[in-house]
Amino acid sequence: MGFESVIGLEIHAQLKTKTKIFCNCSAMFGAEPNTHTCPVCLGMPGTLPVLNRKVVDFAIKMALATNCNITKTNRFARKNYFYPDLPKGYQISQFELPIAEHGYVIIDVSGTKKKIGLTRIHMEEDAGKLTHDPLRPVSCVDFNRTGVPLIEIVSEPDLRSAKEAGIYLRQLRSVVRYLDICDGNLEEGSFRCDANVSIRLEGSKKLGTRTELKNLNSFKHVEKAIKYEIRRQEAILAECGTVIQETRLWDHENGRSVSMRGKEDAHDYRYFPDPDLMPLVIDEKWIQSVKETLPELSDVKKIRFTEQYALSLYDADVLTVDKHIAEFFENCIKIFPKPKLVSNWIMGPLMEVLNSEKKTIIEISVSADDFSQLLKFIDQDIISVRTAKTVFLEMVETGGHPGDIIEKKGLTQVTDESEIEVLVNKILNDNKKEVIDYKAGKTKLMGFFVGQVMKATSGKANHRIVNQILKKKL
Ligand code: ADP
Ligand code: ZN
Ligand code: MG
Repeated sequence: MGFESVIGLEIHAQLKTKTKIFCNCSAMFGAEPNTHTCPVCLGMPGTLPVLNRKVVDFAIKMALATNCNITKTNRFARKNYFYPDLPKGYQISQFELPIAEHGYVIIDVSGTKKKIGLTRIHMEEDAGKLTHDPLRPVSCVDFNRTGVPLIEIVSEPDLRSAKEAGIYLRQLRSVVRYLDICDGNLEEGSFRCDANVSIRLEGSKKLGTRTELKNLNSFKHVEKAIKYEIRRQEAILAECGTVIQETRLWDHENGRSVSMRGKEDAHDYRYFPDPDLMPLVIDEKWIQSVKETLPELSDVKKIRFTEQYALSLYDADVLTVDKHIAEFFENCIKIFPKPKLVSNWIMGPLMEVLNSEKKTIIEISVSADDFSQLLKFIDQDIISVRTAKTVFLEMVETGGHPGDIIEKKGLTQVTDESEIEVLVNKILNDNKKEVIDYKAGKTKLMGFFVGQVMKATSGKANHRIVNQILKKKL
């Protein structure tokens, strides 16, 4: 009998608020260590936390975007544990009454829709950051991150493979980015994921014992670690062993997970309501006002793109994963309403550049205006597709306008038929043997003749016209 794998993800998303969740310190990443701190986030006795309203706005946004029920009366709770990155000795989190519960997202697994339940979303504060000096016997702590707001998004154990987990994680990252509440950066840790994995005999309804995987800081690591863990558990069960409930650390270098600690149960944390914070009451008016700020999300946008612009589902999918690409596409369409050509150029040359330069569309110096202008030049036969690619690379490099680049470099396409005809005559004259062979049936030589004309014009002759004239003459 085969095994079925069962996976649930816990995602921590760092919220992009200006200040921390319970004090006025900056929540910005990258400052000198311990410069964004105050008595509140350092956990000094006698200080009191004050909730940042923006954190609640952002959490409500996420709850609405993932079809959750929003809890009207929220409570913050203390999660107690001792670690040097946690100055108060407890983390302010939510326990019995999280801000949102019972949501879901629909993921697309190779064309099949699947509903993944969200157990809960809760708000909490981040801990500090420890670094361990490899050269000296010291560890350093940076409290800048202490008190930075997080939402934790817990899924139901509805995922059945590493691939599904990857699709789900990508989709949630797309949602937080669309909502503009989190950078969604796994590598830098603003979007962190723990994977809970268990296996059971196929057809069984009972859940197996799970292990929790940590240290998954890229999509590749998440998928590899889950696959490894499934195989590890299968090997244990195949030998009639038992899987131990524990937390395991993914060791990417060696492609394996190692046991880190036994898994705590909730009661180990001695959760209790934080007496320093009032219950948080969220009324319908507040929810409504947040609802009005919600953008169109990627799944809705994707369907609209297929309908409004007659794009394939595949194209629409690629164009809407990133909100800024989708926006760029629509800005281009306003200027140059040929969706298929625009989408081909975004998915082709533009995305190639973004990938090779590791940049986002906002970071490169090509505006939708200039990009559309370039496509217009191709469409009007002013430049060839090949020339356009060269011009595009120059636009990326210098931020120049396509018209200026074409003029400066004399790249305008030759479309004058009589001019091309003169050239064709000359080339047929110079290559008499090939002409005879062609007429005797070696039609493959067409490519050779076209090549000669293109060479003579440095690639600037219009392909269609060259072909036409050659066919006529031959
Ligand atoms: P904890 O903080 O103890 O890890 P949470 O409730 O925050 O508990 O998260 C538990 C996660 O583990 C959820 O995503 C849930 O879907 C998943 N999970 C629970 N039981 C199993 C199981 N047997 N196999 C796989 N995943 C599981
Ligand atoms: Zn502070
Ligand atoms: Mg967990």
